[in-house]
Amino acid sequence: MSLLSKLFGHADQGYSLVEKRPDILLCCVNEPLMPRWRGPDVMEDDRNALGFVCGKCGREFGHDKVHERRVIVS
Ligand SMILES: [Zn+2]
Repeated sequence: MSLLSKLFGHADQGYSLVEKRPDILLCCVNEPLMPRWRGPDVMEDDRNALGFVCGKCGREFGHDKVHERRVIVS
């Protein structure tokens, strides 16, 4: 139903299930994004990240939406 269901769901990564998420412009653009990795062996390079997750609301962004772990607002 949401992007969260597509995440691996590691409970220790601080994902919270909130129904009403803040607007991207009010939330994610102000937050440093956390890269999501396939596994611990590929965690050196952001280019290997599967996506980038906002630590506040849990939204995930693809590489095309992120630059240097920040949401690109266009
Ligand atoms: Zn956010």
